[in-house]
Amino acid sequence: MALEREVAAISSQFAVSDAELLAIAKEYIRLAELGLGTDSMPMTMIPSFVTDVPNGSERGTFLAVDLGGTNFRVCSVTLLGNGEYKLEQKSTAVSKNLMTGSSKDLFSFLAKQVETFMKLHLNDHFNEESSTNGEHILKLGFTFSFPVNQTAVNRGTLIRWTKGFDVVDAIGQDVCLLLQKELDALKLGVHVAALVNDTVGTLMSRAYASSSEALTKVGLIVGTGTNGAYVEDLAKVTKLDLSSAAFSNKHLMIVNTEWGAFDNALRVLPVTQYDRLVDGITPNPGFQMFEKRVSGMFLGEIVRQILLDLCTRKVLFAGPSAELTTEWQLDTSFLSEVENDESEDFDGICKLVEKSLALHTSHAERCAIKKIVEAVGKRSAYLAGAIIAGTLQHIGACSNRSSVDLGVDGSVYAHYPNYSKLLKESIKIILGDDEARVIIGRAEDGSGVGAALCALVA
Ligand code: ADP
Ligand code: MG
Repeated sequence: MALEREVAAISSQFAVSDAELLAIAKEYIRLAELGLGTDSMPMTMIPSFVTDVPNGSERGTFLAVDLGGTNFRVCSVTLLGNGEYKLEQKSTAVSKNLMTGSSKDLFSFLAKQVETFMKLHLNDHFNEESSTNGEHILKLGFTFSFPVNQTAVNRGTLIRWTKGFDVVDAIGQDVCLLLQKELDALKLGVHVAALVNDTVGTLMSRAYASSSEALTKVGLIVGTGTNGAYVEDLAKVTKLDLSSAAFSNKHLMIVNTEWGAFDNALRVLPVTQYDRLVDGITPNPGFQMFEKRVSGMFLGEIVRQILLDLCTRKVLFAGPSAELTTEWQLDTSFLSEVENDESEDFDGICKLVEKSLALHTSHAERCAIKKIVEAVGKRSAYLAGAIIAGTLQHIGACSNRSSVDLGVDGSVYAHYPNYSKLLKESIKIILGDDEARVIIGRAEDGSGVGAALCALVA
């Protein structure tokens, strides 16, 4: 009985009321508008310098490369013009030495991978006269998932490394130029045409491949982290010098919101003691506060903190295990597996808890774990839905009875049971009947197809 009571109390802390959802959407719009006017807001609203959205009729062959973690991926993407494409790819591990060596070593390694790939998959191109006499003929989209200060569609200086990279002399340099220089040294005939953020690529690939009539206006990711990009009126991006010749005849701009940093001030986001504990063990306490309630990196740890608390208070488990007391022990796939067990005796949950936490459970304990997981998962989807609804309200996407299309990528969205249903529930609470005009679908391969499309429109 004590367990049931405690679980009900915790679940209610994770419930987000309609009024709270409305307040979150409203605060999102306020902060988005501030961010479009200045560079000094945490939710930075970064202009991508991508000023066209594809419609599915685009054609041609492009290269895309993706440097974002332990692997470097090279792809060739052939757009077939009817929303379809062919893609070939090769991933190579980036060694620890390269991750912490010189920029020359790293970028010449990357260029070398492009050369090897082209010899294998783009032989025709490789043998063409024009590619070797110095003309840049094959366009490349460069997905680079580190903080950059972007100043043009293919210009961006590295602010700092993350994820274990520490190539000190690259900081402050233009990563597109570093790559271009090494590609040129190999005489590959490749032009680095676009520096691409993965959410922008997600929006672009969805716009190309979506079969819905509605225009794609938003791309978002709920994976390790969460972020979104959307199609903005160029005139509203007031922090840019809009009189510049670069923008003549341009009307729109895809903006990378960096919404993981939404409401770091915690004016509207829910805060539980478990959120505080998780924040406290991250390398960046007080930052990325929205992301820490929504994305895959954190949901497992929120659940572990709750289970540990209930164990310490002697209402759950016979006693703690080493696994239960280990930070970051639970992955978000743990939540998915718990949610997936619909059996009467929760046999799946029983085995899962034995495997992940080395703990035995009674039936009542398995029910409790299920309720906790549902509360944490639902809060994630509801918060994500509130931000999406805020974005749609900000751009007036559902006015005039028009429909709007959204592309989503990331393992949490893809694999968490009912995530998309919960997302839509939350959007409906905020948008009412307009929710029926919101089409949400999977976006394919933002860093491949999406980056190729960025290179095309650049
Ligand atoms: P990334 O965001 O790094 O590009 P992913 O989109 O694959 O990569 O997201 C990885 C995140 O998704 C991890 O935090 C992981 O916990 C989470 N994840 C992986 N599998 C599942 C699953 N079955 N259900 C829910 N979350 C998952
Ligand atoms: Mg990803």
